[in-house]
Order: sequence, then structure tokens, then C-alpha cells
Amino acid sequence: MKVDVGLADHYEPLIGGKRMSISTEAFDAVNAATGARLATITRGGADDINAAVAAAKSAFPGWAATPVAQRSALLHRLADWVEENIDRLAVIDAMDIGRTIGETAIDHRIAISQYRFFAAAAVTHTGWNNPVPGGWAIAKREPLGVVGQIIPWNVPAIMTAFKLAPALAAGNTLVLKPDENASLSTLELCVALAEIFPPGVVNVVPGMGTEAGAALTAHPDVEKLAFTGSAEVGRIIAHAGADRLVPVSLELGGKSPNIVFPDIDDLDRVVDNAAFAATYCNGQSCLAGTRLFLHDDLYDDFLSRLTGVFERITVGSPVDPATRLGCLVSQTQGERVLDFIASGKEDSNLVTGGSRATVPGSEAGWFIEPTVFETDNTSRIAQQEIFGPVLSVIRWRDYDEMIEQANGVDYGLAAGVYTSNLAHAMRTADRLKAGSIWVNQYFNLVDGSPFGGYHGSGIGREYCAETLDMYTQLKSVVIAEQAPPPMFG
Ligand code: NAD
Repeated sequence: MKVDVGLADHYEPLIGGKRMSISTEAFDAVNAATGARLATITRGGADDINAAVAAAKSAFPGWAATPVAQRSALLHRLADWVEENIDRLAVIDAMDIGRTIGETAIDHRIAISQYRFFAAAAVTHTGWNNPVPGGWAIAKREPLGVVGQIIPWNVPAIMTAFKLAPALAAGNTLVLKPDENASLSTLELCVALAEIFPPGVVNVVPGMGTEAGAALTAHPDVEKLAFTGSAEVGRIIAHAGADRLVPVSLELGGKSPNIVFPDIDDLDRVVDNAAFAATYCNGQSCLAGTRLFLHDDLYDDFLSRLTGVFERITVGSPVDPATRLGCLVSQTQGERVLDFIASGKEDSNLVTGGSRATVPGSEAGWFIEPTVFETDNTSRIAQQEIFGPVLSVIRWRDYDEMIEQANGVDYGLAAGVYTSNLAHAMRTADRLKAGSIWVNQYFNLVDGSPFGGYHGSGIGREYCAETLDMYTQLKSVVIAEQAPPPMFG
């Protein structure tokens, strides 16, 4: 497997256009399903971060002055490279994180569209210029400088693109720290980054959160912090930003409601889509539709069909094209998910699943049976982000009560609504406190539609043209044709 995907034996940080390490420490990337070592990675520390930030700082004036059309062309070249390497990159991610190759290929296709989207969006992201009496008023868009970016492991290709594309398009230079559980495809991307961008424009330092991550967060030359990950670490990043008064954008967790009205047209399609919403990415998606609100009128029929779908989902090796659900990323995640399942078994009704599954040849993998619980919105499994294929089904009859419960979690990232009644859809979309609402099709991601959360799900929006606002600031330049008449005689 290692030979097929062309993995290197050791991966180093990308600093100033070179693959180099200052730290002498390393850690292993392991195959999530088999436990086999895939490669060794430099465990970047404060010295690597300092060198990377210095490289980004010295590259900034040149990159900021690079015409936007040229920045845009380089982002298209990056997208081309991912397109040419997509099969290999998808397998690397599947081995590294345990998700299926079908899913990880979709990740890379989303990444490609992000590079192309921001290549185009940057061209139209301008300030303004207004004639005023006796002169001109100009609002200029300027990049911020060196951006520090930290990402999680669940969808590494998407997270890398969500961070690199807008920051580079807007004229910033950056240092990115991938997650220690899922660095490989980003480190492979460094081959292209080093070829395509001027030295120092993009720097990548792998390592641990409390080491490389903390050093990047605290670095005095970093002018903006962009983070995706848990709410717990998001708060640490926000505090660090507050201490240095630099802007911080945060994409955090979710516990999204998926609401089924009794008036749906096609029950089986909705059942299927609700199962997809809960199990795509093995449930390891901040967007997953993990709380399914079923109306009383269709509850029993829906739940029985849903159980059938969950029981038909094939669990298997992430690199087998027939597999629908691979394994979780690590033992830590596996034990965490099983702990939630144990707590669900105590206070809720287990409908299907609920155990670790074994896959021959992949005995090291933390495979979890697709799991459904009937519960109420106050249970631990309904309130907390599990990050595994575990769905909480909640019965509803009273609309206002259901809306209150749908909004009754710390998060507000996404929500689904299934109805054939346009007024129900619109009214419910208005009342849900979530950044993305999908009517009749969960995970209906459309390039350019804002992506981000209410309250505990974060601050800021990615995936859209407005993201460029987060990576620039406005400068007001007011020009008078001449000095005003004397005021003092
Ligand atoms: P995490 O917060 O533990 O780690 C995320 C990143 O932060 C990693 O790179 C880690 O090394 C780094 N980190 C950890 N401690 C740090 C510290 N003290 N200082 C600086 N960096 C530190 O999150 P995770 O468990 O890897 O990822 C899962 C979480 O990410 C879930 O909550 C999920 O919902 C969220 N997520 C959100 C989105 C979104 O766009 N809203 C997308 C994907 C994942």
C-alpha cells in the first residue's frame, strides 16, 4: 500500500520554500485501520514555528504586492495539481484517518473547488473609490500579514483548502499547522506548494497542538489566527488572540438538528438522507445531523425504515471501494465514542448498533456499528458532540417546543428540515439558530454559500466570498486636491 501511493519515509515541515526541520523530534503517522506505520513526521516545535513565521514575514511584502491575477493563477495551478493527484491523495487520507476512499476523494474535489473559487473571488474583492467635493475618498482592501492557521483531522484536505485558499488569494502569507492525526495529505501537498508559490508564502509545520500549535498561536508576528477544531481549544485560541489583539476566526463543533415534518413527499428518500446526514464521515463531521427530530405521525414507520438502512450500511476497510463506513481515526476517538454509547445505553433506548465491529485484516481499527438511539434532547448523547456514527432520535409533536429543543444545545452550525410545505421550511429556517440550513437535502454544500456557526460553533464564515473580509482590512484614504483655505488669518 505504501509503495502504491508513493509516501515518503519521513516528512519535514515546509519552511521558506524548503523541506527542513529544526526540531529533531518525530512522530509516526499510522494506518488507522491496520495500525501499520505509514511514515515518520517531524514533530515541529517553537523553533520550527519561529523560522516559519520569519519566512512568512519576509515573503509578505512581495506576495501582498503580487497582482491579484497572478495570485489567482497560482491557486489554479494548485487546484490542477490536486486534480492530477486526487486518486493517490484520497488513498493517503483513507489510510491516515480511516474514512473511505469514496469520501476522501470527495474531500479533495471540494478542496479543488475551494482553490478555484477563491482564485476567482479575489479578483472581485475590491474596495471602493468615490469622488467627493474637492477630492476623492478611497477604501483600499489590504491583506493582514502573516496568518497562523490550525486545523483538525476529520477532513484534512477540505480544512487545508478552507484555510489556504482565502488567505493566499487575499495576499497574506501563512503558517499552517495540520493535525497530528492527519498530516500526510497536507504534507504531500507541500510538494506542489513549494513548486508553485514563492518561498515563504506558504509554510506548513506539523506537530502537536500544545507545542507547534501553542507556539504559532502565541507568536508576536502573527497578525491573524484562524482555527478549526474543538470548542475547548477554540477558547484557548480566542484568549491568545485577545491577549495580542489580533483577529481570530473559529470554526468549532456542532450538534445539528435534522427535523422531519409529517408532510414529506417521499419517506424512503428522507430516511436515506437522514441516515447519510448522521453517518457521512463516520459521524466525524462538525456538520453531521446527529439529532433527528421525527414528528409523532410518522415516527414509528420512519424509525423502522431508518433502522433497516443503518443495518444495511457496510462497515469495512477504508480502502475497499465497497465500504460505506470505515473506522474512526484513533483509539482515543474510538474509546470516546464507546463511552458515549455506554452512557446512551443507560438513559436512552438503543435501537440498533452500539458496539465496536471487527473487520478482518483491519483488527487495529476502531470500527463502530452505525448506531441509533431513541432519546430526549436533555440526554448526554443528545447534547454533546460524539464524533462517531451515533444518531439520537427525538420525537416531536408541538412545533414551538421542537424548535426550542432544536436550538437547545451549545452549538449552532447546521440544521436540516424535510417538508413539502414551503412556509414550514421558511419559517423554520428563520427560527433555527444555525449557520447553514438545508431544506430537503442534508449536506447540500454549494460553493459560495457561507459556512460557519452561531454561538458555540464559532466566529466567522468560510467557503464564501465574504471570507475574504476576514483576511483583509480596509484602509481609508481621503485625498483633497489642495490644502483648505487658512483658518487662522
Ligand atoms: P482539537 O481542537 O483537539 O484539535 C484541532 C487542532 O488544534 C489540532 O491541529 C491540534 O493539534 C490543535 N491544538 C490542540 N491543542 C492546542 C493548543 N493548546 N494550542 C494550539 N493548537 C492546539 O480538535 P479535533 O478533535 O482534532 O477535531 C475535532 C473538532 O473539530 C470537532 O469539535 C469538530 O466539530 C471540529 N471541526 C469543526 C469544523 C468546522 O468547520 N466548524 C470542521 C471540522 C472539524
